[in-house]
Amino acid sequence: MKSLKERSQEIALLMQYAVPEAARAQAATLLDQYGNDAVALSVFHHFYSFLPEGLDDAITVLRRFGRRESKFLLCATTTLNDYLYVADSEAAVFLGPLSEGVPAEVLAFFGFASPAAFHKTQQDLDRMPVHLPPHLDRTLCPVCHAAEGEFHTLGCPVEICPWCGGQLTSCPCRFNQLGIHEMDKETQIDDLLELLYAKGRIPFNAEEQAPAYPTSPVDLDQP
Ligand SMILES: [Zn+2]
Ligand SMILES: [Zn+2]
Repeated sequence: MKSLKERSQEIALLMQYAVPEAARAQAATLLDQYGNDAVALSVFHHFYSFLPEGLDDAITVLRRFGRRESKFLLCATTTLNDYLYVADSEAAVFLGPLSEGVPAEVLAFFGFASPAAFHKTQQDLDRMPVHLPPHLDRTLCPVCHAAEGEFHTLGCPVEICPWCGGQLTSCPCRFNQLGIHEMDKETQIDDLLELLYAKGRIPFNAEEQAPAYPTSPVDLDQP
């Protein structure tokens, strides 16, 4: 898996061919600001690889329209238009220009009550929040982006073990509970989840879990 730094470098290279001269400095600054944000980098990479209009263009603002679990609904404002993406820390899916709206199932997934509710956000674009890199957003798990009260993605190193109070990904409890020495089967993950919920799985709590986590940028997708 590529590091965040490698991903940024790849995007910078794509930008040499995609960004009009006049927009270059600003586009590079924006890429820098999101250098530790795997989700934003997914959008940048998609945008600069497949320029939606096939014309030179640059992202000037990235706004967050919604988030659920590890998925983000983001709007990239460019020098030409506004485009919607669904992104996570690995990849982005292009939905199309903001003016064309989004499929009903996407609206439902991100909790918009109706197409009309979404239409309001289209009208009020300037009032939609700018996307804050998740590692700076204290209300989200810095690794898996679970929100307050949500469960971490299984395997997230911030998740606390309900048996020993340690780090679930490094303590020996999962092996002891399952009576195994190695986790190598899909079914063991299901069994573990069942045991976790029975014991009382611990959801993300910003107050207790985020401050204990290093706040300096960490290359989280290093293997
Ligand atoms: Zn997490
Ligand atoms: Zn444990």
